[in-house]
Amino acid sequence: MDSAALPTTDYDIIVIGGGIAGVSIAYELAENHSVAVVERESTLAYHTTGRSAATFLESYGNATVRALTHAGRGFFVSPPDFVDAPLVSDLPLLIVATEDEAPTLRDLYRTVGGRSGPVAAADTTIELIDGADAEALNPLLRPGYTDLAMVDFGSLELDVHGLHQGYLRGLRRRGGAVLKSTGIVAAHRDRSAWVLHDRRGDEVRARTVVNAAGAWCDEVARLFGAAPIGIRPLRRTAFMVSGPSVMPAGSATARRTMTMSASEDFYFKPDGAGFLCSPAEETLQPPSDARPDDLEIARAIDRLNEATLLQVRSVATSWAGLRSFTADRTPVVGPDPAVDGLFWFAGQGGYGIQMAPALARAGAALADRGELPRDLRDLGVTATVLAPSRPALAA
Ligand SMILES: Cc1cc2nc3c(=O)[nH]c(=O)nc-3n(C[C@H](O)[C@H](O)[C@H](O)COP(=O)(O)OP(=O)(O)OC[C@H]3O[C@@H](n4cnc5c(N)ncnc54)[C@H](O)[C@@H]3O)c2cc1C
Repeated sequence: MDSAALPTTDYDIIVIGGGIAGVSIAYELAENHSVAVVERESTLAYHTTGRSAATFLESYGNATVRALTHAGRGFFVSPPDFVDAPLVSDLPLLIVATEDEAPTLRDLYRTVGGRSGPVAAADTTIELIDGADAEALNPLLRPGYTDLAMVDFGSLELDVHGLHQGYLRGLRRRGGAVLKSTGIVAAHRDRSAWVLHDRRGDEVRARTVVNAAGAWCDEVARLFGAAPIGIRPLRRTAFMVSGPSVMPAGSATARRTMTMSASEDFYFKPDGAGFLCSPAEETLQPPSDARPDDLEIARAIDRLNEATLLQVRSVATSWAGLRSFTADRTPVVGPDPAVDGLFWFAGQGGYGIQMAPALARAGAALADRGELPRDLRDLGVTATVLAPSRPALAA
Protein backbone atom coordinates (compact mmCIF):
# COMPACT_ATOMS: atom_id res chain seq x y z
CA MET A 1 0.00 0.00 0.00
CA ASP A 2 1.30 3.46 -0.91
CA SER A 3 -0.36 6.41 0.72
CA ALA A 4 0.16 10.11 1.16
CA ALA A 5 -2.12 10.02 4.24
CA LEU A 6 -0.91 8.30 7.39
CA PRO A 7 -3.33 5.54 8.49
CA THR A 8 -3.80 4.85 12.20
CA THR A 9 -2.42 1.37 11.88
CA ASP A 10 -0.21 -0.59 14.24
CA TYR A 11 2.82 -2.32 12.82
CA ASP A 12 5.33 -4.65 14.40
CA ILE A 13 8.13 -2.55 12.93
CA ILE A 14 8.35 0.92 11.39
CA VAL A 15 11.45 1.75 9.34
CA ILE A 16 12.24 5.48 9.14
CA GLY A 17 13.84 6.32 5.76
CA GLY A 18 12.97 5.16 2.24
CA GLY A 19 16.50 5.07 0.78
CA ILE A 20 18.27 1.81 -0.03
CA ALA A 21 18.98 1.17 3.68
CA GLY A 22 15.32 1.49 4.68
CA VAL A 23 13.73 -0.53 1.88
CA SER A 24 16.30 -3.35 2.02
CA ILE A 25 16.01 -3.98 5.76
CA ALA A 26 12.21 -3.55 5.55
CA TYR A 27 12.08 -6.31 2.94
CA GLU A 28 14.10 -8.66 5.13
CA LEU A 29 12.07 -7.89 8.28
CA ALA A 30 8.75 -8.29 6.43
CA GLU A 31 9.36 -12.03 6.15
CA ASN A 32 8.30 -12.42 9.81
CA HIS A 33 6.69 -9.09 10.77
CA SER A 34 4.21 -6.46 9.68
CA VAL A 35 6.41 -3.60 8.47
CA ALA A 36 5.93 -0.03 7.24
CA VAL A 37 8.55 2.25 5.71
CA VAL A 38 7.97 5.95 6.41
CA GLU A 39 9.68 8.53 4.17
CA ARG A 40 9.54 12.31 4.55
CA GLU A 41 9.88 13.06 0.84
CA SER A 42 7.14 12.46 -1.73
CA THR A 43 9.69 10.41 -3.74
CA LEU A 44 11.67 7.49 -2.37
CA ALA A 45 15.46 7.46 -2.89
CA TYR A 46 15.38 11.25 -3.35
CA HIS A 47 18.47 11.82 -1.18
CA THR A 48 21.80 9.94 -1.17
CA THR A 49 20.49 6.72 -2.72
CA GLY A 50 19.43 8.53 -5.89
CA ARG A 51 22.78 10.32 -6.21
CA SER A 52 25.41 7.58 -6.14
CA ALA A 53 28.04 6.55 -8.68
CA ALA A 54 26.40 3.09 -8.86
CA THR A 55 29.50 0.96 -8.46
CA PHE A 56 30.30 -2.28 -6.61
CA LEU A 57 33.94 -2.20 -5.51
CA GLU A 58 35.09 -5.08 -3.34
CA SER A 59 38.46 -3.41 -2.80
CA TYR A 60 36.93 -0.20 -1.37
CA GLY A 61 36.48 0.58 2.33
CA ASN A 62 37.70 -1.07 5.53
CA ALA A 63 37.78 -4.82 6.19
CA THR A 64 34.18 -4.98 7.48
CA VAL A 65 32.87 -2.97 4.54
CA ARG A 66 34.79 -5.19 2.10
CA ALA A 67 33.46 -8.35 3.74
CA LEU A 68 29.86 -7.07 3.60
CA THR A 69 30.30 -6.05 -0.03
CA HIS A 70 31.80 -9.43 -0.93
CA ALA A 71 28.89 -11.22 0.78
CA GLY A 72 26.42 -9.41 -1.47
CA ARG A 73 28.06 -10.28 -4.79
CA GLY A 74 25.85 -13.34 -5.37
CA PHE A 75 22.69 -11.26 -4.88
CA PHE A 76 23.81 -8.69 -7.45
CA VAL A 77 25.02 -11.21 -10.02
CA SER A 78 22.04 -13.60 -9.69
CA PRO A 79 19.26 -11.54 -8.12
CA PRO A 80 16.21 -13.17 -6.50
CA ASP A 81 12.96 -13.27 -8.47
CA PHE A 82 11.52 -10.06 -7.00
CA VAL A 83 14.35 -8.04 -8.63
CA ASP A 84 14.45 -7.43 -12.39
CA ALA A 85 17.77 -8.74 -13.75
CA PRO A 86 20.36 -7.82 -14.79
CA LEU A 87 21.50 -5.58 -11.95
CA VAL A 88 25.16 -5.49 -12.92
CA SER A 89 27.60 -5.05 -15.77
CA ASP A 90 31.40 -5.38 -15.75
CA LEU A 91 33.28 -2.22 -14.78
CA PRO A 92 36.85 -2.90 -13.62
CA LEU A 93 38.16 -0.43 -11.04
CA LEU A 94 41.47 1.13 -12.14
CA ILE A 95 43.30 3.09 -9.44
CA VAL A 96 46.13 5.15 -10.92
CA ALA A 97 49.14 6.52 -9.06
CA THR A 98 51.79 9.04 -9.99
CA GLU A 99 55.30 8.34 -8.73
CA ASP A 100 54.48 10.27 -5.52
CA GLU A 101 51.31 8.27 -4.97
CA ALA A 102 52.85 4.86 -5.73
CA PRO A 103 53.72 4.01 -2.08
CA THR A 104 50.07 4.69 -1.07
CA LEU A 105 48.86 2.37 -3.83
CA ARG A 106 51.33 -0.38 -2.85
CA ASP A 107 49.97 -0.16 0.73
CA LEU A 108 46.42 -0.48 -0.57
CA TYR A 109 47.38 -3.49 -2.68
CA ARG A 110 49.01 -5.15 0.33
CA THR A 111 45.72 -4.66 2.21
CA VAL A 112 43.17 -5.64 -0.42
CA GLY A 113 45.10 -7.55 -3.07
CA GLY A 114 46.67 -10.28 -0.93
CA ARG A 115 45.03 -13.48 0.15
CA SER A 116 44.90 -12.76 3.87
CA GLY A 117 42.16 -10.93 5.77
CA PRO A 118 38.43 -11.60 5.98
CA VAL A 119 37.89 -11.82 2.24
CA ALA A 120 40.57 -14.29 1.24
CA ALA A 121 38.90 -15.11 -2.06
CA ALA A 122 40.59 -17.83 -4.07
CA ASP A 123 39.41 -15.94 -7.14
CA THR A 124 41.22 -12.71 -6.26
CA THR A 125 41.06 -10.52 -9.33
CA ILE A 126 43.21 -7.63 -8.12
CA GLU A 127 46.54 -6.91 -9.81
CA LEU A 128 49.27 -4.28 -9.76
CA ILE A 129 50.18 -3.12 -13.28
CA ASP A 130 52.55 -0.53 -14.71
CA GLY A 131 51.64 2.76 -16.35
CA ALA A 132 51.77 1.40 -19.92
CA ASP A 133 49.33 -1.42 -19.06
CA ALA A 134 47.05 1.10 -17.33
CA GLU A 135 47.03 3.27 -20.46
CA ALA A 136 46.20 0.22 -22.59
CA LEU A 137 43.29 -0.54 -20.25
CA ASN A 138 42.06 3.05 -20.30
CA PRO A 139 43.38 4.94 -23.37
CA LEU A 140 41.90 8.15 -21.93
CA LEU A 141 44.72 8.28 -19.39
CA ARG A 142 47.29 10.91 -20.35
CA PRO A 143 50.43 9.09 -21.60
CA GLY A 144 53.14 9.17 -18.92
CA TYR A 145 50.85 10.30 -16.08
CA THR A 146 50.53 6.89 -14.44
CA ASP A 147 53.53 5.33 -12.72
CA LEU A 148 51.72 2.39 -11.09
CA ALA A 149 48.11 1.20 -11.12
CA MET A 150 45.94 -1.34 -9.35
CA VAL A 151 43.11 -2.96 -11.23
CA ASP A 152 40.23 -4.87 -9.66
CA PHE A 153 38.70 -6.87 -12.49
CA GLY A 154 35.84 -8.01 -10.23
CA SER A 155 34.28 -4.54 -9.90
CA LEU A 156 30.79 -3.97 -11.27
CA GLU A 157 28.44 -1.21 -12.29
CA LEU A 158 25.06 -1.43 -10.53
CA ASP A 159 21.49 -0.60 -11.48
CA VAL A 160 20.64 1.29 -8.26
CA HIS A 161 17.10 2.09 -9.34
CA GLY A 162 16.51 -1.56 -10.23
CA LEU A 163 17.84 -2.66 -6.84
CA HIS A 164 15.71 -0.16 -4.92
CA GLN A 165 12.58 -0.99 -6.95
CA GLY A 166 13.25 -4.69 -6.48
CA TYR A 167 13.38 -4.38 -2.71
CA LEU A 168 10.17 -2.32 -2.79
CA ARG A 169 8.43 -4.96 -4.89
CA GLY A 170 9.64 -7.69 -2.53
CA LEU A 171 8.44 -5.69 0.49
CA ARG A 172 4.97 -5.22 -1.01
CA ARG A 173 4.72 -8.91 -1.89
CA ARG A 174 5.33 -9.62 1.78
CA GLY A 175 2.50 -7.25 2.74
CA GLY A 176 4.71 -4.31 3.73
CA ALA A 177 3.46 -0.71 3.55
CA VAL A 178 5.23 2.40 2.22
CA LEU A 179 4.10 5.77 3.57
CA LYS A 180 5.54 8.67 1.56
CA SER A 181 5.43 12.38 2.51
CA THR A 182 5.55 11.22 6.12
CA GLY A 183 8.28 13.05 8.00
CA ILE A 184 8.51 11.90 11.61
CA VAL A 185 8.92 14.89 13.93
CA ALA A 186 8.15 13.43 17.38
CA ALA A 187 7.79 10.13 19.20
CA HIS A 188 6.44 9.02 22.56
CA ARG A 189 6.25 5.76 24.44
CA ASP A 190 2.82 4.18 25.06
CA ARG A 191 3.31 1.03 27.18
CA SER A 192 5.46 -1.28 25.03
CA ALA A 193 4.89 0.62 21.76
CA TRP A 194 6.33 3.72 20.13
CA VAL A 195 3.85 6.27 18.80
CA LEU A 196 5.33 8.31 15.96
CA HIS A 197 3.95 11.69 14.94
CA ASP A 198 4.36 12.99 11.43
CA ARG A 199 4.57 16.68 10.52
CA ARG A 200 0.80 16.86 9.80
CA GLY A 201 0.01 15.56 13.27
CA ASP A 202 -0.96 12.01 12.22
CA GLU A 203 0.19 9.02 14.27
CA VAL A 204 1.50 5.55 13.57
CA ARG A 205 2.56 2.89 16.14
CA ALA A 206 5.04 0.06 16.32
CA ARG A 207 6.83 -2.12 18.87
CA THR A 208 10.16 -1.49 17.18
CA VAL A 209 11.44 1.45 15.15
CA VAL A 210 14.38 1.06 12.76
CA ASN A 211 16.40 4.24 12.29
CA ALA A 212 17.48 4.15 8.63
CA ALA A 213 17.37 7.92 8.14
CA GLY A 214 20.81 8.28 6.52
CA ALA A 215 22.32 11.72 7.21
CA TRP A 216 19.43 12.45 9.61
CA CYS A 217 19.86 9.38 11.83
CA ASP A 218 21.24 11.32 14.83
CA GLU A 219 18.36 13.81 14.55
CA VAL A 220 15.89 10.93 14.44
CA ALA A 221 17.56 9.25 17.44
CA ARG A 222 17.06 12.40 19.52
CA LEU A 223 13.28 12.16 18.91
CA PHE A 224 13.41 8.89 20.88
CA GLY A 225 15.64 10.26 23.64
CA ALA A 226 18.61 8.23 22.36
CA ALA A 227 22.20 9.46 22.37
CA PRO A 228 23.59 10.27 18.90
CA ILE A 229 26.25 8.01 17.37
CA GLY A 230 28.19 10.96 15.92
CA ILE A 231 27.19 10.58 12.28
CA ARG A 232 29.22 12.81 9.93
CA PRO A 233 27.34 13.66 6.70
CA LEU A 234 30.10 14.29 4.14
CA ARG A 235 29.10 15.95 0.88
CA ARG A 236 30.33 14.43 -2.38
CA THR A 237 29.74 16.15 -5.73
CA ALA A 238 29.34 14.42 -9.09
CA PHE A 239 29.00 15.86 -12.60
CA MET A 240 28.58 14.79 -16.20
CA VAL A 241 30.84 15.82 -19.08
CA SER A 242 30.95 14.86 -22.73
CA GLY A 243 34.00 13.01 -24.03
CA PRO A 244 36.74 14.52 -26.21
CA SER A 245 35.80 15.34 -29.80
CA VAL A 246 38.26 12.70 -31.02
CA MET A 247 38.70 9.63 -28.83
CA PRO A 248 42.29 8.37 -28.42
CA ALA A 249 43.48 5.32 -30.37
CA GLY A 250 42.41 2.06 -28.74
CA SER A 251 39.30 3.55 -27.13
CA ALA A 252 36.88 1.67 -29.37
CA THR A 253 38.14 -1.73 -28.27
CA ALA A 254 39.17 -0.89 -24.67
CA ARG A 255 37.10 -2.15 -21.73
CA ARG A 256 35.01 0.35 -19.78
CA THR A 257 36.64 1.18 -16.43
CA MET A 258 35.96 3.17 -13.28
CA THR A 259 39.19 5.16 -12.99
CA MET A 260 40.20 6.75 -9.69
CA SER A 261 43.32 8.48 -8.42
CA ALA A 262 45.27 6.77 -5.64
CA SER A 263 44.78 9.88 -3.47
CA GLU A 264 41.03 9.63 -4.22
CA ASP A 265 40.86 13.24 -5.37
CA PHE A 266 39.03 12.44 -8.64
CA TYR A 267 37.32 9.57 -10.41
CA PHE A 268 35.50 9.14 -13.70
CA LYS A 269 33.57 6.42 -15.50
CA PRO A 270 31.72 6.22 -18.84
CA ASP A 271 28.01 6.92 -18.50
CA GLY A 272 25.83 6.86 -21.61
CA ALA A 273 27.42 9.07 -24.27
CA GLY A 274 29.47 10.99 -21.67
CA PHE A 275 31.42 10.53 -18.46
CA LEU A 276 30.40 10.72 -14.81
CA CYS A 277 33.14 12.50 -12.85
CA SER A 278 33.67 13.43 -9.22
CA PRO A 279 36.12 15.49 -7.16
CA ALA A 280 35.57 12.75 -4.52
CA GLU A 281 35.48 15.41 -1.80
CA GLU A 282 34.38 14.78 1.78
CA THR A 283 33.02 18.06 3.13
CA LEU A 284 31.22 17.97 6.47
CA GLN A 285 27.70 19.43 6.28
CA PRO A 286 24.55 19.41 8.38
CA PRO A 287 21.91 16.98 7.02
CA SER A 288 20.21 18.72 4.10
CA ASP A 289 19.31 18.51 0.42
CA ALA A 290 22.96 18.64 -0.68
CA ARG A 291 24.00 20.87 -3.56
CA PRO A 292 27.07 20.48 -5.82
CA ASP A 293 30.10 22.65 -5.08
CA ASP A 294 31.36 24.69 -8.06
CA LEU A 295 34.87 25.13 -6.61
CA GLU A 296 35.21 21.37 -6.14
CA ILE A 297 34.03 20.83 -9.71
CA ALA A 298 36.65 23.32 -10.99
CA ARG A 299 39.35 21.55 -8.97
CA ALA A 300 38.28 18.16 -10.35
CA ILE A 301 38.33 19.48 -13.93
CA ASP A 302 41.95 20.61 -13.40
CA ARG A 303 42.89 17.17 -12.06
CA LEU A 304 41.04 15.36 -14.85
CA ASN A 305 42.73 17.47 -17.52
CA GLU A 306 46.12 16.82 -15.89
CA ALA A 307 45.63 13.05 -15.66
CA THR A 308 43.50 12.29 -18.72
CA LEU A 309 42.75 13.19 -22.34
CA LEU A 310 39.10 13.98 -21.53
CA GLN A 311 39.64 17.71 -22.39
CA VAL A 312 36.89 18.77 -20.00
CA ARG A 313 35.71 22.32 -20.68
CA SER A 314 32.13 22.39 -19.51
CA VAL A 315 29.78 20.49 -17.28
CA ALA A 316 26.45 19.12 -18.53
CA THR A 317 24.79 18.45 -15.16
CA SER A 318 25.93 18.19 -11.56
CA TRP A 319 24.56 16.98 -8.25
CA ALA A 320 25.74 16.10 -4.74
CA GLY A 321 24.82 13.74 -1.95
CA LEU A 322 25.74 13.20 1.68
CA ARG A 323 27.77 10.09 2.50
CA SER A 324 27.13 9.43 6.20
CA PHE A 325 30.16 8.14 8.05
CA THR A 326 30.79 7.11 11.64
CA ALA A 327 34.13 7.70 13.40
CA ASP A 328 35.40 4.25 12.35
CA ARG A 329 33.77 4.36 8.88
CA THR A 330 31.81 1.19 9.64
CA PRO A 331 27.98 0.97 9.61
CA VAL A 332 26.00 0.93 12.85
CA VAL A 333 23.56 -1.97 13.13
CA GLY A 334 21.90 -3.10 16.35
CA PRO A 335 19.57 -2.18 19.20
CA ASP A 336 20.15 1.13 20.96
CA PRO A 337 21.96 0.36 24.23
CA ALA A 338 19.64 2.54 26.34
CA VAL A 339 16.32 3.02 24.51
CA ASP A 340 13.91 0.07 24.21
CA GLY A 341 12.48 -0.59 20.77
CA LEU A 342 14.95 1.58 18.82
CA PHE A 343 17.18 -0.23 16.32
CA TRP A 344 20.03 1.48 14.43
CA PHE A 345 20.67 0.90 10.72
CA ALA A 346 22.96 3.80 9.89
CA GLY A 347 26.40 4.94 8.75
CA GLN A 348 26.33 3.36 5.26
CA GLY A 349 29.02 5.84 4.17
CA GLY A 350 30.14 5.57 0.56
CA TYR A 351 29.16 1.90 0.28
CA GLY A 352 25.43 1.74 1.11
CA ILE A 353 24.38 0.38 -2.28
CA GLN A 354 27.04 -2.29 -2.63
CA MET A 355 26.64 -3.45 1.00
CA ALA A 356 22.81 -3.39 0.91
CA PRO A 357 22.01 -7.09 0.37
CA ALA A 358 24.35 -8.35 3.10
CA LEU A 359 23.76 -5.46 5.50
CA ALA A 360 19.97 -5.86 5.28
CA ARG A 361 20.30 -9.57 6.13
CA ALA A 362 22.65 -8.65 8.98
CA GLY A 363 20.19 -6.08 10.33
CA ALA A 364 17.16 -8.36 10.19
CA ALA A 365 19.05 -11.25 11.82
CA LEU A 366 20.33 -9.02 14.63
CA ALA A 367 16.83 -7.59 15.18
CA ASP A 368 15.17 -11.02 15.19
CA ARG A 369 17.74 -13.35 16.76
CA GLY A 370 20.50 -11.15 18.13
CA GLU A 371 23.13 -12.84 15.96
CA LEU A 372 24.49 -12.44 12.45
CA PRO A 373 23.89 -14.91 9.61
CA ARG A 374 26.51 -17.66 9.49
CA ASP A 375 28.05 -16.60 6.16
CA LEU A 376 28.76 -13.11 7.49
CA ARG A 377 30.32 -14.45 10.70
CA ASP A 378 32.50 -16.73 8.56
CA LEU A 379 33.76 -13.62 6.75
CA GLY A 380 34.81 -12.09 10.08
CA VAL A 381 31.89 -9.67 10.54
CA THR A 382 30.80 -9.53 14.20
CA ALA A 383 27.83 -8.01 16.02
CA THR A 384 30.31 -6.13 18.21
CA VAL A 385 32.00 -4.39 15.28
CA LEU A 386 28.57 -3.12 14.09
CA ALA A 387 27.11 -2.36 17.55
CA PRO A 388 25.88 1.17 18.41
CA SER A 389 27.59 0.82 21.81
CA ARG A 390 31.09 0.15 20.40
CA PRO A 391 33.80 2.36 21.91
CA ALA A 392 35.14 3.37 18.46
CA LEU A 393 32.07 5.55 17.90
CA ALA A 394 33.09 7.81 20.76
CA ALA A 395 36.37 8.65 18.98
C1 LIG B 1 28.39 11.04 -5.19
C2 LIG B 1 28.13 9.75 -4.45
C3 LIG B 1 28.61 8.56 -4.99
C4 LIG B 1 28.34 7.33 -4.33
N1 LIG B 1 28.74 6.19 -4.96
C5 LIG B 1 28.43 4.99 -4.39
C6 LIG B 1 28.77 3.78 -5.06
O1 LIG B 1 29.30 3.80 -6.16
N2 LIG B 1 28.45 2.60 -4.46
C7 LIG B 1 27.83 2.55 -3.22
O2 LIG B 1 27.59 1.46 -2.70
N3 LIG B 1 27.51 3.70 -2.57
C8 LIG B 1 27.78 4.90 -3.12
N4 LIG B 1 27.45 6.07 -2.48
C9 LIG B 1 26.88 5.97 -1.12
C10 LIG B 1 25.42 5.51 -1.14
O3 LIG B 1 24.70 6.31 -2.06
C11 LIG B 1 24.85 5.64 0.31
O4 LIG B 1 25.63 4.86 1.19
C12 LIG B 1 23.41 5.16 0.40
O5 LIG B 1 22.62 5.69 -0.61
C13 LIG B 1 22.82 5.53 1.76
O6 LIG B 1 21.46 5.11 1.76
P1 LIG B 1 20.49 5.51 2.96
O7 LIG B 1 19.21 4.81 2.70
O8 LIG B 1 21.20 5.26 4.25
O9 LIG B 1 20.33 7.10 2.86
P2 LIG B 1 19.30 7.99 2.01
O10 LIG B 1 19.19 7.50 0.62
O11 LIG B 1 19.72 9.41 2.18
O12 LIG B 1 17.91 7.71 2.71
C14 LIG B 1 17.58 8.24 3.99
C15 LIG B 1 16.15 8.69 3.93
O13 LIG B 1 15.66 8.99 5.24
C16 LIG B 1 14.67 9.99 5.09
N5 LIG B 1 14.42 10.62 6.38
C17 LIG B 1 15.29 11.33 7.13
N6 LIG B 1 14.70 11.78 8.26
C18 LIG B 1 13.41 11.36 8.22
C19 LIG B 1 12.29 11.52 9.09
N7 LIG B 1 12.40 12.21 10.24
N8 LIG B 1 11.11 10.96 8.74
C20 LIG B 1 10.99 10.26 7.56
N9 LIG B 1 12.03 10.09 6.69
C21 LIG B 1 13.23 10.62 7.02
C22 LIG B 1 15.29 10.95 4.06
O14 LIG B 1 14.31 11.76 3.45
C23 LIG B 1 15.96 9.97 3.12
O15 LIG B 1 15.15 9.70 1.98
C24 LIG B 1 27.65 7.31 -3.10
C25 LIG B 1 27.17 8.50 -2.56
C26 LIG B 1 27.39 9.72 -3.23
C27 LIG B 1 26.85 10.98 -2.65
